[in-house]
Amino acid sequence: MKKITIAIDGFSSTGKSTLAKQLANHLGYIYVDTGAMYRAVALFAMQNGCINADSFDKQTLINSLPNIKLQFKFNTDLGFAEMYLNEANVETEIRTIEVSSFVSKVAEVSEVRTKLVEQQKEMGKDKAIVMDGRDIGTVVFPDAELKIFMTASATTRAQRRYDELVAKGDAVTFEEVLANVEERDYIDTHRKDSPLVMAEDAIEIDNSHLNRKEQFELVLELVSEIAKTI
Ligand code: C5P
Repeated sequence: MKKITIAIDGFSSTGKSTLAKQLANHLGYIYVDTGAMYRAVALFAMQNGCINADSFDKQTLINSLPNIKLQFKFNTDLGFAEMYLNEANVETEIRTIEVSSFVSKVAEVSEVRTKLVEQQKEMGKDKAIVMDGRDIGTVVFPDAELKIFMTASATTRAQRRYDELVAKGDAVTFEEVLANVEERDYIDTHRKDSPLVMAEDAIEIDNSHLNRKEQFELVLELVSEIAKTI
C-alpha cells in the first residue's frame, strides 16, 4: 500500500493520540505527538525562570529557544516514542496538570510555533507518518492525504482526562480538569497564530459515543479508500 501522511487534529482529550498510535502501529508508520513537544517547551519555561511572580516572561523563553533540544526516542517496551528535553526523558513530567495549565500560553508564542513546525515538517518529509496536534492539517501538512478532525463534548473529554490523572495517582478534582479543558479550548481556538480550526478537507469524527475499536476501524477504512485513489 502506498505510504501517506495522516494528520489528526482536534480539541484536547478527544483521544487523538490513542487513535494515532493505533494507526501508526498497524500501518508501520512513525507516530508524532506534537502536543508533547509544546508540553516539553512549557516544562522548560517552568524550570528555567520564564515565569516571574505568576506572570509568563515570553521574551526570556524566546531568547532561550536555541537551547531547547526536543527529541523522540522509541521505547520498545511501551511501543511508542517518548519525549526527551535536552537529553532527559520528560514523558511523565509533561503530563501533569501544572504543565497542562500553562502549555497553551506557550503555544501562543509565534517563535515557539515556528521552531516546532519546522522540526515537524522535517519529520514528515518521507511520509508514512501519523501526526496529531492542533494545526497539522492546516499548517504542518496542508497536503496530507488524510486529515481527521476529532471532537467530543467538553464534559466527556474532561471525564476521560480526569480518569487518566486519577489512575496515575494525581490529586485533582473533576471541576479543575473541566476548567483546564475549557480554558485550553478557548486559548487554542482564539490565538492569532495557527488557531485550532478544522481544515476544509478534513473529516470530522465526533467520538463522544464511539469506542476505540469502532473509531479505529472507521479510520482504517478511510486509509484504505485513500490509498486506492493515489
Ligand atoms: O495534545 P495536547 O493536549 O497534549 O497538547 C497540549 C497543548 O499544546 C494544547 O492544548 C495546545 O495548546 C498545544 N498544541 C498546539 N499545537 C499543536 C499541538 C499542541 O498548539 N500542534
